[in-house]
Amino acid sequence: MADVLLDDVSRVYPDGSAAVSHLSLHVRNAELMVIVGPSGCGKSTVLRLIAGLEPLKSGTISIGGRVVNNLTPGDRNVAMVFEAAALYPHLTAAQNLRFGLALRKLPAEEIRQRVEAETRVLRLGRFLDRKPKTLSAGQRQRVAVGRATVRVPDVFLLDEPLTHMDAGERIRLRTELAHLQQGLGVTAIYVTHDQSQAMAIGDRVAVMRGGRIEQLDEPRTLYRRPANTFVASFMGEPAMNLVAGYIEQDAGRTFVVLGGQRLPFPGTPSGLLRGRTGPVTIGIRPEHVTDAGSEPGLPVLFSSAFRVERLGYELLVACPINATAVTVSDTPGIERLPGGQAHLIARFPRTHPVRRGDRVELAVDVSELSLFDPDTGQALWNPAA
Ligand code: ADP
Ligand code: MG
Repeated sequence: MADVLLDDVSRVYPDGSAAVSHLSLHVRNAELMVIVGPSGCGKSTVLRLIAGLEPLKSGTISIGGRVVNNLTPGDRNVAMVFEAAALYPHLTAAQNLRFGLALRKLPAEEIRQRVEAETRVLRLGRFLDRKPKTLSAGQRQRVAVGRATVRVPDVFLLDEPLTHMDAGERIRLRTELAHLQQGLGVTAIYVTHDQSQAMAIGDRVAVMRGGRIEQLDEPRTLYRRPANTFVASFMGEPAMNLVAGYIEQDAGRTFVVLGGQRLPFPGTPSGLLRGRTGPVTIGIRPEHVTDAGSEPGLPVLFSSAFRVERLGYELLVACPINATAVTVSDTPGIERLPGGQAHLIARFPRTHPVRRGDRVELAVDVSELSLFDPDTGQALWNPAA
């Protein structure tokens, strides 16, 4: 039973680079917290600070109400699993599982029970007598997870544990990890650069960029109510469309100008949007732009199909519009045509006959728009939760 508290934590490497800056984070007891962000944003450094593998420059880390700043890794009762499982190559899977428990001089019967429970949960039965080099990446990683959790740590730290697996194995094992964590009731912090893993398993997700947390929320809130354009474009696949547009007021009504066309703003601009006119960044997810024939009654944009991707369960159609694409650094990126013209990525019904080069009419669900400050990227408006 332990919550984890990081209070104003910073880490500067000897070469002067600040990997983590004034970061505060409260991970609740038994929660699965995911830290997600682009490569180099400081995720691994955060985990290594919690584990005690790196010194803090400033700030406080507490586990279960106890300040651990000056405790060695061994005294923190945390277990960590890295990207590439570091198993003892000369030991079998079973011996790897038992190793840490035997070192702690636990009674043989207790070791047997714990290893048996891990074997069952992680489906390791068939591999117990095999050495690591004869196991697949996914099987090795399951043994590593078993070894880390067999002694039931207060906090379980996972650093990109699924990176070296194929897609199917990754999805299976992420689900198993989440089950194992719930079953053990252990607090877990899971680091990944992959937003789909974060969305799938996180109770809450902290989105990091440049050594800081940009937003911490439940997955659905991050997706629906992003705090800024970075979170908006990082979470979701394909990314949220971000294009330059305007807010206009006319005869007491508010309009969003998207691609040179005026769309009525549904509802009353409040909060940061109250009374605001002029340039904004418009964010709209692909599922809220579709073929007008399938969604009658919504405002329509005229465009053409620049590219069509048939994904089986849906169609993604890239449609150029008369607006400039807004790019955000550190994200996989928004697609642009030469000259900076934006594409809207639209989701069409999977049976739609559209082909490359066809003219299309796009229905835009304006009640699902997000609007951002074009200078700071901060959210001005998000759809209701
Ligand atoms: P992530 O896990 O998100 O990819 P890291 O925590 O590994 O990021 O690294 C954060 C930043 O700190 C990066 O810019 C990285 O280059 C830098 N960094 C990491 N380790 C060291 C080190 N030992 N010395 C200097 N800089 C480092
Ligand atoms: Mg890392």
